[in-house]
Amino acid sequence: MGAIELHARASRTFDAKLAETQALLRQAAAQYSPVTQASSLGAEDVVITHLINSLELDIPVFVLETGMLHPQTLALLERTQATSRVPVKVYRPVTESVIQFVAREGNEPMYKSIALRKACCHIRKVEPLERALAGQRAWITGLRREQSNARADVPLIDTSDEATTGRAKFNPLANWTWGDVWHYIRLNAVDYNPLHDEFFPSIGCAPCTRAISLGEDFRAGRWWWEDEAAKECGLHVKNDEVSTQ
Ligand code: SF4
Repeated sequence: MGAIELHARASRTFDAKLAETQALLRQAAAQYSPVTQASSLGAEDVVITHLINSLELDIPVFVLETGMLHPQTLALLERTQATSRVPVKVYRPVTESVIQFVAREGNEPMYKSIALRKACCHIRKVEPLERALAGQRAWITGLRREQSNARADVPLIDTSDEATTGRAKFNPLANWTWGDVWHYIRLNAVDYNPLHDEFFPSIGCAPCTRAISLGEDFRAGRWWWEDEAAKECGLHVKNDEVSTQ
């Protein structure tokens, strides 16, 4: 059974949530230019890219190509670039930083310690993210409240860092359920990562993502060898070296 058959179930208020999301995306394009969508090419992000394209909004998309993505994700990236009306830009880590880090710590530093895992995330994700966001007045993410305890209070528009960074963060799917996301994908025949059909709810770098079993927590497939509290990559963490987000 594929992800659509397993998950697509609209919540009672789906239509209202969709209208709210569309209004937020329009607001972001109208009031926060330049604005960009950060896409991991996961289910939430393909929904947002589809909405941006169908609403014909001037919101370019970017993807962080860490050098560790699954082939299925890279193939989806190529298809997205070929079909998207808005540009889909790719940001990669600084080659020299990766070479030096791998020479020093080996190919699988993420399993040695949380500090090394975070160092890897910094080189491959956080620094490229800073480049992708430079000069942007807002960015759009696929964060949902349901995804984890750490995300339970995610606001639709987060302006808490705007005074210091000049940048707001839109989370237009904050209220959506996993069933809503897949309902939208089914309804609009949105192209998605086939890893979702293999029980990967949350898709990231290959060494740090695994399938989950029925009943496991949504983010159990990310950094599964670490405590729950440590499980953010730095992209959505406040009060650290990337307090721009
Ligand atoms: S998710 Fe894993 S492989 Fe990807 S940047 Fe972080 S530690 Fe490195």
